[in-house]
Amino acid sequence: MSTPTLGFIGLGVMGEPMARRLVQAGHSLTVFDLNEAAVERLVALGASRAADPRAVANQAQIVFASLPTPEIVQKVALGDQGIIAGEQVRLFVDLSTTGPRTAKQVASALAERNIIAVDCPVSGGAAGAEKGTLALMVACPDAAYAELLPILNTLGKALFCGEQPGLGQTMKLVNNLVSVTALAVSCEALVMGVKAGLDPQVMLDVFNAGSARNSATADKLPRAVLPRTFDFGFTTALSLKDTRLCLDEAEAMGVPMPVGSSVRQVLNMTRAAFGDSADFTRITCLIEQWAGVEVPTRPRPSN
Ligand code: NAD
Repeated sequence: MSTPTLGFIGLGVMGEPMARRLVQAGHSLTVFDLNEAAVERLVALGASRAADPRAVANQAQIVFASLPTPEIVQKVALGDQGIIAGEQVRLFVDLSTTGPRTAKQVASALAERNIIAVDCPVSGGAAGAEKGTLALMVACPDAAYAELLPILNTLGKALFCGEQPGLGQTMKLVNNLVSVTALAVSCEALVMGVKAGLDPQVMLDVFNAGSARNSATADKLPRAVLPRTFDFGFTTALSLKDTRLCLDEAEAMGVPMPVGSSVRQVLNMTRAAFGDSADFTRITCLIEQWAGVEVPTRPRPSN
């Protein structure tokens, strides 16, 4: 089988490094984004530009998307100038976090045009996208997975979640709920410990040597909170979106999530205090304001 032509829509924090890795791996790539500067950077590496999602899908057999919200994914996939109207496209791979409902809607609409939708949300942040070490949570028919696997290996580690549309998205939503919950409670603990007189670095050392170790204590707090840069690379608005999608889905399924609901409110308050684009590690600053104490700055680890 000849190498398929690829397309990529959404060249943001996650999409740009992923698209770059595909071009650098030698794939023929057509790109589209509303942000012309991001398109220019990919074209400089050898990608072709397209005027809209439909034009991408006229050129590419496999189209990837990494877009902010379910509404934007629906428009890009199913709108008048959307992927659904493309002539070449066979597979639509949505790398965005959009929730299982959107994945199912998009899959059933595209199926009418014989386009297979693959839900493939990712975890690992901007650093994982740069290094090609993302976790990719894939749901699609077996044959599509077999075709995609060599391409997905360029982006990270593919983990097959099932054939049913939306299963990858459900996996992603619960993954992120666990991750942000660990962040919120770790920030609370850090601020309390500092107010009591503990050194924040000692606290992290103990957490990470013991039973409290999690992705916040091991990575987010040392990288973005102790240096007080608050630049982990994931916005409060996106984290709130993921949490909302997860809780809405859980509620529809009859699964109460009281802990997750509290975390949703913590994110709401962080957004109200610092804005949509504030990094979600700013949760710390919210708790600092309530506690009347500031976590003292410690240097960022060199690795
Ligand atoms: P981002 O806002 O940095 O990038 C989104 C890109 O989409 C931007 O370049 C924007 O110009 C473009 N865009 C918006 N509307 C468009 C449209 N109609 N047509 C074409 N392009 C359009 O977001 P991001 O952080 O890269 O996240 C992308 C997706 O990945 C989100 O669904 C997010 O939840 C998910 N995600 C993000 C992270 C992270 O750490 N940032 C990690 C895992 C998953």
